[in-house]
Amino acid sequence: CVIGKSEPHSGGSIWTFVRVYTDEGIVGTGECNSAGIFPSGFATKETVLTLKDLLIGEDPFNIGPLYEKMRRRGRYAGGNSAPFTFALTGIENALFDIVGKALGVPVYKLLGGQFRDRIRLYADCHAGETNEPAAYAARAQEVVAEGYSAVKFDVDHKADAKLDRHNWTVGAAEMTHIVDLIAATREGIGYDVDLAIDCHGQFDLPSAITLAKAVEDLRLMWLEEPLPAENIDALAQVRASTSTVICTGENHYTRFDFLELLRQKAVDVIMPDLAKAGGILEAKRIADMADTHYIPVAPHNVSSPLGMMAACHVLASIPNFLVLEFHGREISWWEDLCIGDKPFIQSGWMEVSDSPGVGVELDETVARSLLWNGDVYFVAP
Ligand code: MG
Repeated sequence: CVIGKSEPHSGGSIWTFVRVYTDEGIVGTGECNSAGIFPSGFATKETVLTLKDLLIGEDPFNIGPLYEKMRRRGRYAGGNSAPFTFALTGIENALFDIVGKALGVPVYKLLGGQFRDRIRLYADCHAGETNEPAAYAARAQEVVAEGYSAVKFDVDHKADAKLDRHNWTVGAAEMTHIVDLIAATREGIGYDVDLAIDCHGQFDLPSAITLAKAVEDLRLMWLEEPLPAENIDALAQVRASTSTVICTGENHYTRFDFLELLRQKAVDVIMPDLAKAGGILEAKRIADMADTHYIPVAPHNVSSPLGMMAACHVLASIPNFLVLEFHGREISWWEDLCIGDKPFIQSGWMEVSDSPGVGVELDETVARSLLWNGDVYFVAP
């Protein structure tokens, strides 16, 4: 079912939850992105339902073969893209929840064990109270005071400053303003806190290169999506032009997209969204491939506590984890939606659950109150 609420800075907090039921009574829940950009918000759910027949009568422990069977079913329907890959992700996560519960172990133990028992987070701060440099700096200081060792800000929202509505060129005044925003934020938090900057894939090649070079001395943790996701060769040109750390990945899916990013030397850091990219094992494959290039993994994340904990199991199990996004700071009901070891977030960290499976369940009462667009709570088969 689809659960969530659209509100300012929610980052599309409308999630698709998938339940897989077994004849032994174990129920697994997985979360994935809702592809809520489509008007109904049900694109992912509809895709999940079309894959249901491939699972009936199967052994949930056969995650690998079941995953490939579903993935290959989609090859004539944009199988490597959204929302098909989102649906795969939700189903695969539910299967891992089942296997963990059946064996009485947390998911990370199925992935080779634990490099770390808590996951370092960065807060996505979006912007300041206003769009002025001092407001960015003030917001950054406020969030760092909560315990975060890393923050991220957006710099692509000054659309009214654009000289042309349709091109992706950053004009001179807009570029000056963007660089001022980043410099003021860096000055506000100093150099002992990590600072990432998100461009949301809305600049053209010369603008991206100009910005990346202009902020080289500000030692960013990364500059995110300076270009749209489609042309990896163009992103490789940005990376080759600058010492600024270049990061992308929230709009890339499965090992095949990440293979191209790595092969074309287009990134310094990858940021797959683990509720979108294909599933827990697929995320592990992506991370391992990045590790062979000495590239760290810093996942994009706008999930509920359930999907975020699923991501934490993966991140506990890989050596090359850097930092995980937390997008729920301003969502008052974020913790309420789920049951588990609370608080889920403390001073910029998330502890990895040791309960069987993912270790987080939906709170049915809260979830029912947040059903999206008239949807019904899970219907058991
Ligand atoms: Mg982003």
